[in-house]
Amino acid sequence: MKFYSTNNPDHKVDLAEAIFRGLPADKGLYMPERVDRLPQQFFDDLPAMSFAEIGFQISKHLLGDDVPETELKALVYEAINFPAPVVKLDEQRYVLELFHGPSLAFKDFGARFMSRLMGHFNKENKRELVILVATSGDTGGAVAAGFYQTPGIEVVILYPKGKVSLLQEKQLTTLGHNIHALEIDGTFDDCQAIVKQAFLDEDLRKQIRLSSANSINISRLIPQSFYYFEAYKQLGAGAPVAFCIPSGNFGNLTAGLLAMKMGLPVRQFIAATNGNDVVPEYLTTGTYRPRPSVATLSNAMDVGSPSNFARMLNLHGHVDGKDLRTSLAHAEMSKVVSGYAYGDAVTEDAVREVKAKFDYVIDPHGAVGYLALNDWQRQHPGTRGVILETAHPSKFKPDVERILGQSIEVPERLAELEFREKVSTEMGVDFQPVRKWLLERYT
Ligand SMILES: *Cc1c(COP(=O)(O)O)cnc(C)c1O
Repeated sequence: MKFYSTNNPDHKVDLAEAIFRGLPADKGLYMPERVDRLPQQFFDDLPAMSFAEIGFQISKHLLGDDVPETELKALVYEAINFPAPVVKLDEQRYVLELFHGPSLAFKDFGARFMSRLMGHFNKENKRELVILVATSGDTGGAVAAGFYQTPGIEVVILYPKGKVSLLQEKQLTTLGHNIHALEIDGTFDDCQAIVKQAFLDEDLRKQIRLSSANSINISRLIPQSFYYFEAYKQLGAGAPVAFCIPSGNFGNLTAGLLAMKMGLPVRQFIAATNGNDVVPEYLTTGTYRPRPSVATLSNAMDVGSPSNFARMLNLHGHVDGKDLRTSLAHAEMSKVVSGYAYGDAVTEDAVREVKAKFDYVIDPHGAVGYLALNDWQRQHPGTRGVILETAHPSKFKPDVERILGQSIEVPERLAELEFREKVSTEMGVDFQPVRKWLLERYT
């Protein structure tokens, strides 16, 4: 399979280049050249297939023989080694729990798949690969756990000192082995600026093989299409299914669009956001106004300029450079995706309502999804709706406990982190000390 840039369909690269580069030089985003319908055999076999097998069949379908079949199978089975159960609230409403991986958020799927794919393509290379990532919290944890002990790959995570939660910090700083944390005395933007400088430093890149594990990497999107089919399988026959997706950068939603292109029957996609409502606004008005993000309760969705929007447009036939207002893409996208946005106060009410009505603890991101699903289903009775629960509620423990007025359970694997020893290297906000540290370590 070849991958093209959303900015230039004629610019095509192979899988290895797409994943190691992350971003095309023209600043577009990589997209698979073709996303065909899965063969009928897949749909016939689906009810009896395991989650890992679903992942393998989709990977084989999308990637062809880019990775030899036996290796691809081993890689997918290793990455998808935890479940994504569908929990029933009532006959109309369901929750797809995507938080059963090591960092308790859906980003584990992308990080685990990407690390193993990179590990595969890196095998022949004698020089180690150094992955540099800046994190404001969540991505770093998933990347650290995903790449932990991957042979030939070192991970260096830059995070802003004092600006991530205690448990988030422990997820970055307690693994050891090939995972290293640099504690930057600045903001997330400072961390990102240092990473950018490293990638622009030709001399450094001659001496060290650098790559990124950015959320826009196409290899993170592919495994996110697996769980749409897994949910569909678990639901079985019945009323049409709508998927409601709490969204920030819209990676999850874009993966759903890919699943639909591969033949998944979807009644509707519902894009649910907090006050950062750039996409719902676009869907209703046709005007796209990216703007600085505002801080909310569902902070993993505080995104003012969603990185996957270019992919969503592209999937609906938008040709880059054309005026968005006159583009057919808006009409096409609005047929498939409905958008809703909610403030923090109603989101808190929703967390309480889900607990009271269904005895289910939903996190603030999932609660935004619950509100959107209800609003959409009022107009579309006789449907089944699945809310993607993007993180375990204990990741947002202080807020959820305050909202519910009671303590909530923390899964063992998160709770035990508290007692592990933090190991990090403190740095200022300048690039030079980071550069020196990298060269001392990796040359
Ligand atoms: C990353 C994240 C989101 C947003 O997902 P996108 O794919 O960027 O839209 C939502 N909820 C949680 C908990 C997240 O970590």
